[in-house]
Amino acid sequence: MFAKLYDFLTPEQIQFNADMKQHTSFKIGGPADILVLPACITDLVKILEFCREKPFPYVLLGQGSNVLVRDKGIRGMVIKLGDALKQFSISGGEIYAEAGISLSKLAREAAEHSLSGLEFAEGIPGSLGGALAMNAGAYQGEMKDVVHQVIGLDGAGNYKMFNKVESQFGYRSSIFQDGAYIVVAARLHLKPGQRDQILSTMQNLAQQRQEKQPLEYPSAGSTFRRPPGFYVGPLIEGLGLKGFSIGGAQVSIKHAGFIINKGQASAQDVIDLIRHIQQLVREQHGVELKPEIKILGEE
Ligand SMILES: Cc1cc2nc3c(=O)[nH]c(=O)nc-3n(C[C@H](O)[C@H](O)[C@H](O)COP(=O)(O)OP(=O)(O)OC[C@H]3O[C@@H](n4cnc5c(N)ncnc54)[C@H](O)[C@@H]3O)c2cc1C
Repeated sequence: MFAKLYDFLTPEQIQFNADMKQHTSFKIGGPADILVLPACITDLVKILEFCREKPFPYVLLGQGSNVLVRDKGIRGMVIKLGDALKQFSISGGEIYAEAGISLSKLAREAAEHSLSGLEFAEGIPGSLGGALAMNAGAYQGEMKDVVHQVIGLDGAGNYKMFNKVESQFGYRSSIFQDGAYIVVAARLHLKPGQRDQILSTMQNLAQQRQEKQPLEYPSAGSTFRRPPGFYVGPLIEGLGLKGFSIGGAQVSIKHAGFIINKGQASAQDVIDLIRHIQQLVREQHGVELKPEIKILGEE
């Protein structure tokens, strides 16, 4: 059934029963039936063609830094951009970059070219594509602020350009989350700035992350979306839940907005902890916390 994939992918680009612990920042998750690693956009187009012809279900991952994969794993195919699709060019205030490039690397490249606007992205793990899909943001900045155009590819191999409005960016959301289009590249518009000042701002933000976030443990970043009028960390901390664990999943002592994997956490541990927090917050504050992390795989 998968023989056709070997016509255009090397054996190293195809993994069966792929352990999703190896492919997510949470280091949690059962096996994906098959995981493929496209090396370029042509590979991606052919993989999508394969999935369409079969038909075969797929999910797309950038670097897996905002996902929790359930313990039973993922039925169907995971297409992981990972380290691929990372070409970029900078001309004046415009950056053209493919979706697989690491967001942090892009922010540093922008700084080296004295371009301001991506400072907020320092330290946000993951790819440009994932950041656009999530409209990732921090410290009063978000991807929406710098996007000029997003280039999407649909399952039938058609490209479509999306301007900022068409991308429908919202709080940690965009049109690219509905799965109809994969982000393959984008044009960002940045402003001229002072290289040293930009780098210093980024260094500052990196230090704040180091001090406030549990970067020494696997996680998927903030577990919950911020509910209107509240900050998640203090809300959870106020319930005495800092350090509270279920199995190997723990509410970080450093930042209650993060659930961390203390070592051997199962996805179920994390899900049970999420439900426990949701229930207490609902009971005590009447607030409905919604996960920011994407929970994937077989229930
Ligand atoms: C320690 C830590 C700190 C973090 N801090 C922040 C923060 O400050 N701000 C913030 O916003 N996030 C933060 N995150 C979460 C995460 O880093 C971001 O959401 C990131 O942008 C996800 O990128 P990714 O490539 O890993 O996406 P993935 O986790 O692989 O995917 C996330 C979602 O995007 C979709 N997606 C991925 N790539 C594409 C693509 N090319 N086209 C279409 N859809 C795609 C996936 O299908 C999935 O639904 C943090 C995570 C960690 C572990």
